[in-house]
This record gives sequence, structure tokens and C-alpha cells, in this order.
Amino acid sequence: MGLELQAGLARASAMEYLLRFLGHHPWLEQGSPVTLIKGAVPTGVARGSIVTDGLMLVGDAARQADPLTGEGIAHAMLAGRLAAEVAAQAAEPGDVSARPLRAHEKRWRESRGRKMERNYRLKTRFSAAERVSHSFQRAFAVAAVGK
Ligand SMILES: Cc1cc2nc3c(=O)[nH]c(=O)nc-3n(C[C@H](O)[C@H](O)[C@H](O)COP(=O)(O)OP(=O)(O)OC[C@H]3O[C@@H](n4cnc5c(N)ncnc54)[C@H](O)[C@@H]3O)c2cc1C
Repeated sequence: MGLELQAGLARASAMEYLLRFLGHHPWLEQGSPVTLIKGAVPTGVARGSIVTDGLMLVGDAARQADPLTGEGIAHAMLAGRLAAEVAAQAAEPGDVSARPLRAHEKRWRESRGRKMERNYRLKTRFSAAERVSHSFQRAFAVAAVGK
């Protein structure tokens, strides 16, 4: 697919918007694509428990990416560490039922989970257009201070 795009596309794909943007900024044509990475980021929050007998979910599987920004790498790494610590504690007495593993869920909520839930509420309450407005930034600042 070249950089030319059909004019007047009512609804275009993310790739088409990107190519259109590049086409409108000739100076960007000095560069060339190195690689193409695409995929989906889960920007919701876990609907049920992220723990059950013999299983703890972390990262995208546990919907731990930030619903507002899509940032998920640091969260997945933190959750991985929390889960590993809980797994080590549970392995000692050999009980990997949901009961001891729930410590993972609790620690996630206390570290980042509540903030992710707050950001999900903000995301669902304000539309994408509203999220660039001053009223959203004020609401976000108040929510961030209040935690
Ligand atoms: C296009 C894009 C851009 C992003 N940009 C950012 C960013 O700038 N900053 C940021 O913080 N986050 C970003 N994210 C989100 C971030 O990549 C994820 O939130 C994060 O990588 C989640 O980590 P994870 O370990 O849960 O999952 P992943 O990183 O997806 O790791 C899961 C791994 O499991 C492997 N796997 C899957 N199925 C199996 C199987 N059956 N057997 C064995 N292995 C399997 C996969 O190959 C993969 O390596 C982006 C995501 C996308 C899609």
C-alpha cells in the first residue's frame, strides 16, 4: 500500500489515518518504516477474579493495562513480580488453591488496581472528545489527588 489514499473516506482504518497523516507532512517522508507492530490493548478492567485454584492472571490477560493510556508493560511486569512472590509463598506449604493466591489480587488492587479502576470510570464517563477538554483534566486531577 502506497502513501496515496483515496480522498473522502468516511471511515478509515487506523493504518489509513496514519498514511493520510504521513501524506500531509512531506517532511516525514524522509523516514522509512522499520517494522510494523499492531495489536489490541485491553482497556477495560477484569470483570471477575484474576485468581482461581492453581491460577493467577497477570498483564493483558488480567486486563491490567491503563484504560486511559493503554500503557501495560510496567503494569504487567509489576503484576508478574507480585504473582511470583505469592506463588513462592504458596508453594512452601504446597497450597495453591484460590485462598492463598487471593493475596495476589489484593496486592494488585492496593498497588495499581484501584487506579486502573478509577481510570476506567473516567474513560467510560467521558467520551474521547471530552477527554481532551479542561473539565476532564480537572476531573482527572481531582481523582488523582483523591486516589
Ligand atoms: C501496538 C501496541 C503498542 C503498545 N504500546 C505500548 C506502550 O508504548 N507502552 C506500554 O506500556 N504498553 C504498550 N502496549 C501494551 C503492552 O504491550 C501490553 O500491555 C503488555 O505487553 C502486556 O504484557 P503481557 O505480558 O500481559 O502480554 P504480552 O506482552 O502480549 O506477552 C504474552 C506472551 O505470551 C505469548 N503467548 C501467547 N499465547 C501463548 C501460548 N499459547 N503459549 C506460549 N506463549 C504464548 C505471546 O507470544 C507473548 O509473547 C502496546 C500494545 C500494542 C498492541
